[in-house]
Amino acid sequence: MEEKFVRNMSLLAACLTVLICGSLYYLPALEVQAQQYVEKQMRARRERKEREEMLAKLSGPEFLDYMTEQARATAQELAGEQHREAVEALDFPQQLRLELPKNVSRDHVTIENHYVDRTIDITIGGAGEDYLVSYPMIGKSDHIEDLNYFQEADGGTVQLAMEQVCELSLDWEEPYLYIDFVRPKERYDKIVVIDAGHGANMPGATIGGVMEKDIDLAIVQELKRLFDAAGDETLGVYYTRLDDSDPAFMDRSGLANDTGANLFVSIHNNSYPSPTVNGTTVLYDEKKPAGGNSSMHLASILLDKVTGALGSKNRGLSKGNEIYVIRTSEAPAALVEVGFMTNPAELSNLTSEAYQKKCAQGIYEGILQALEEGY
Ligand SMILES: [Zn+2]
Repeated sequence: MEEKFVRNMSLLAACLTVLICGSLYYLPALEVQAQQYVEKQMRARRERKEREEMLAKLSGPEFLDYMTEQARATAQELAGEQHREAVEALDFPQQLRLELPKNVSRDHVTIENHYVDRTIDITIGGAGEDYLVSYPMIGKSDHIEDLNYFQEADGGTVQLAMEQVCELSLDWEEPYLYIDFVRPKERYDKIVVIDAGHGANMPGATIGGVMEKDIDLAIVQELKRLFDAAGDETLGVYYTRLDDSDPAFMDRSGLANDTGANLFVSIHNNSYPSPTVNGTTVLYDEKKPAGGNSSMHLASILLDKVTGALGSKNRGLSKGNEIYVIRTSEAPAALVEVGFMTNPAELSNLTSEAYQKKCAQGIYEGILQALEEGY
């Protein structure tokens, strides 16, 4: 019994010796392999970092062009059927193609077009930090001035800065979203730009805690409801603000100029040292020709319609060339001073929803009349 145990132990020791000696023989080779693996990893990491740094230095359009070239080069490297399919997939008529990350559907995509600052935000739920590199956006960079990507808690936003105001035309073929950009004039027969005065830290006249900017905005929001309800798809209506923001003057008339507007209407309210002064006046550009579809004629249409709707005192037209937004608007422009906030009775009216609605109705009808007259 004991003898058998000793014999087994010797056998085991012999086997272990062979095994250990054998491993020692192969150990240097294993070590070389491990070293090669680490070097390869480091090289890949270095290359990736270099690529990211290179991409970060590119402008938006350059980045887009680079990614598009890369996609073409990758497709060229493929063979046979795969090559044909990959090349075909890159041949699309639209301007841009975005790819949704895996497990992300179109329901997770929201698009906001900020016309005044000419940026388009495409927010993709579930998109990660490396979205633009992992799911390259490809296509042509016309109209695009810059391209940025912002990582957020639950996704990311691709922000396109456009050279001009553009509308979007979308085609979904999941996981791809194809985008075309069209100029407002290509989409609409007529274009109107509405400007609510002041905003944010620029309240305009402030009387007894009531700020002009809020009345101006309330009227514009009523006006938007009227245009939205009419749902005329041949008419494009753009607003310089629909919230408590304060676009720069040049961006206000700039929106009218950039969209190629047929007319521009700014909405304000007045103030005067004497509380007895009240009524409606409309400003126009007296330095532009007065005949036909002029700034002056637009102002007179609006004055008639607004005083008619409100029953307010008609104070006539006023010269407005000194006002930046009137002077710089290429389209016929009118600035409606609805009423005097310094007149207590008129202020009370101006803060009432019913009066704001009537005012919006008057401006709405005036705009429709002007368009019918051929503006
Ligand atoms: Zn004002």
